[in-house]
Amino acid sequence: MVKETKYYDLLECSPDASEADLKKAYRKLALKFHPDKNPDAGDKFKDISHAYEILSDEHKRKVYDRYGEEGLSGEGGGPGMSPEDLFSHLFGGGGGFFGGGGGRQRPQGPLKGKDMAHALKVSLEDLYKGKVSKLALQKQVNCPKCDGKGGKEGAVKKCGGCQGRGFKVIMRQIGPMIQQMQQTCSECQGEGEIIREKDRCKGCNGKKIVPERKILEVFIDKGMVDGQKITFTGEGDQAPGVIPGDVIIVIEEKQHPRFSRKGDDLYIEQTIDLATALVGGQFTIPHLDDRVLLVNILPGEVIKPGDTKVITGEGMPGYKRPFDKGNLYVTFKLEFPQPHWADQSKFAMIEAALPPRKPVEPVKGKEIEEVVLSAVDPMQQHARANHMNGGGEDDMDEGHGPQVQCAQQ
Ligand SMILES: [Zn+2]
Ligand SMILES: [Zn+2]
Repeated sequence: MVKETKYYDLLECSPDASEADLKKAYRKLALKFHPDKNPDAGDKFKDISHAYEILSDEHKRKVYDRYGEEGLSGEGGGPGMSPEDLFSHLFGGGGGFFGGGGGRQRPQGPLKGKDMAHALKVSLEDLYKGKVSKLALQKQVNCPKCDGKGGKEGAVKKCGGCQGRGFKVIMRQIGPMIQQMQQTCSECQGEGEIIREKDRCKGCNGKKIVPERKILEVFIDKGMVDGQKITFTGEGDQAPGVIPGDVIIVIEEKQHPRFSRKGDDLYIEQTIDLATALVGGQFTIPHLDDRVLLVNILPGEVIKPGDTKVITGEGMPGYKRPFDKGNLYVTFKLEFPQPHWADQSKFAMIEAALPPRKPVEPVKGKEIEEVVLSAVDPMQQHARANHMNGGGEDDMDEGHGPQVQCAQQ
C-alpha cells in the first residue's frame, strides 16, 4: 500500500503503474501542458514534471510510496531538475527558457543511509566454541515524541523562500548566456521547511532525530573467520525519509598465545624432552574448549627437532558445519639436557643403548691434525668480521683521500 497518491493522480496513473506507463503518461501530459503550447495552464507543467521526476526514480518512488511527499523533503535538500531540463532530457529538444547548461546535473540524494562498520575482536576460543556477544551501539533514531516530524501536526511549514526544495535558483547573465545556479536557501538553511521556535518538538528541538543507545546481540558462530561480516539490516542511523543503512560487524580474530590458524587447521609448537623424543612418552595440549588432549609418542618413534605431526580432527570446526573439523598440526622443539648433566658411567650406558657410532676414518693422502672446539665469543667474532670488511669505521676515512695519492707519487 502507498501512503499517498498525489503524484500518481497528477500523472493520471495508478500506484502500481509500470515505469513505461508513467513515462507514457508524463509525455502525453507534458506535451499538453507545456508552457509553449499552453501558457494558461499555470504550474501544471511544473507539477507533473516534479511528480514524474520522483516516480521515475526507483529509490525516490520507494520513499514516496512509503512515507509520502513528506518523506522526500528530508532527503538532504537535493535539488532536482528543472521541469524544462527534465522534459528535454527525456524527449530531446523541447526548447528551453535558459540558455546555459546549468542545473542539468541531478545529484543523487542520500536516500539510503550510510552503512556503519564496527570491528569486533573475538578470541580463538570463542570462534571455536561459538558465543553471543553484546555490543552497545550509539545511533540516531527518528524522534519518538514527534514521530520524526520535528513538531506538532501543522507546526512544520514548507519554506516559502524555496517552496520546500531547500535551494533557490538564481540567474546570472554572462555575456549572451543566462546561467542558472542553485544556492542553499538561507531562510530554512536548506531544510526546505520551517518550524517556529515555540512549536518545535521538545524531544528533539525540531531536529527530528534523537540519539539512542542500542544493544546488538551478535551471534559468533563456530568456525567464523577473521574478516567475516555479520550484517544487521536497517540498524544504521535513522533520519526522516531515509532508509536506514546497515550495521556491519566485522570479526577480528585475536592472536592466540599458543595456537595459530590457517583456514580450519590449527598449528601449535610443542617442546618435548630428549627422553620422550627417543624412547616415547606423553605430553598434553590444553585445547580451545575445556578439554586437554593427552598425546602419546610411541617408544622408538623418534621425534627430531622441527618434525611436524598431525592430530586429525582436532582443528577448528567448519563454519555452518561444526562437526566437520580441521586438523591440529604439532611442530616439535626438543629440550636437550644441560652440559655436564651426568657422570661417565651414565654416558657409557647411553652409548651402549644408542645405535653404534661411526668410526673416524683417515683420509688418504691427507695429514691428520687434532684441534679443540671452544665456545664462541660473540665480541671476538664481531671484531673479526669488521677486519675482513676492510677495517672499522675509523679506518674508512683514512682509506681514501690524499694519503693514498701521495704514496703513488
Ligand atoms: Zn521530536
Ligand atoms: Zn527554504
